[in-house]
Amino acid sequence: MIIVMKPEATQEQVTMVTNKLTKVGLKVHLSEGASRTIIGVIGDKRFIAQMPIEAMDGVEKMVSVTVDYKLVSREFKREDTIVDVDGIQIGGKNLVVMAGPCAVESLEQLLLSADIVKNAGAQFLRGGAYKPRTSPYAFQGLEEKGLEMMAEAREKTGLKIVTEVVDVESVPVVCAYADMLQIGSRNMQNFQLLKTVGKTNKPVLLKRGLSATINEWLNAAEYIMSEGNYNVVLCERGIRTYEEYTRNTLDLSAVAAVKNISHLPIIVDPSHGTGRWELVRPMARAGIAAGADGLMIEVHPNPAEALSDGKQSLTPENFELMMKEIVSIAHVMGKIVP
Ligand code: PEP
Ligand code: MN
Repeated sequence: MIIVMKPEATQEQVTMVTNKLTKVGLKVHLSEGASRTIIGVIGDKRFIAQMPIEAMDGVEKMVSVTVDYKLVSREFKREDTIVDVDGIQIGGKNLVVMAGPCAVESLEQLLLSADIVKNAGAQFLRGGAYKPRTSPYAFQGLEEKGLEMMAEAREKTGLKIVTEVVDVESVPVVCAYADMLQIGSRNMQNFQLLKTVGKTNKPVLLKRGLSATINEWLNAAEYIMSEGNYNVVLCERGIRTYEEYTRNTLDLSAVAAVKNISHLPIIVDPSHGTGRWELVRPMARAGIAAGADGLMIEVHPNPAEALSDGKQSLTPENFELMMKEIVSIAHVMGKIVP
């Protein structure tokens, strides 16, 4: 349920309503828009429907949300959300680029990658220290050592750090280093992990699950937000289909759909979305044209030597080229590459 307050409702009237709800054990979330406040109520719908909320001063109406997620929906918040990651804004006019290697392999490889992506204009360095690999025999990541290297790269370049957290146990250590927590595809429905990152104050990049519907994905975002962390950015990274030429099928219609039904920012990862480096630039351009707020791109100083995802990683030259190409498309979409 959401309760829409009148534009002229006072702070006291909002508090009266929220007090009434919390007193009976319901959870409330406030969305303070430019013109009015909207109160999202979480709890038994039948129970809320019986409360005489609409009779209270300052209340315009009570609406039953038509989708099973609430805080994520445009019904709850009309304005686009802008997520601030330590001074870098994701959403709104900014087109953010997160780039770097699939995995942190060594300090040398990471610092080189950081320089490359920084010089080409990225704002975030990506790199996995904990790698959820399909095979248990594949490189699993440098773990905390890798996080230390990411922090050193941030120190040297000023880039923000986004890196994956793969389980509940490592949330505190990843939080100690990262500016933004990445929840990978394989963990999109790890509800315990979603609830745990929802209790932190770190912005979260939530990748779409390998075979997740848009509804399941938005519900995963709802898990994080319902714990109080509203700083969620979605990432379309392709879904499993019958097509085998590409690693995944990049679902750009999801970008347009999410923009309609949610206020959250959304970025596109054409690297995992295609699995082929030669398709990354075209799909990056298409992602921005579809309305994405940014990109996540795998870049490696020497893709042929990469310990993971070399086939989909851009060379420094191709990444630079991509960064030049997206400026004009971003411009047409009313965005700027900061
Ligand atoms: C990654 O970004 O390194 C990654 C593992 O991506 P995904 O979770 O989308 O497969
Ligand atoms: Mn990868």
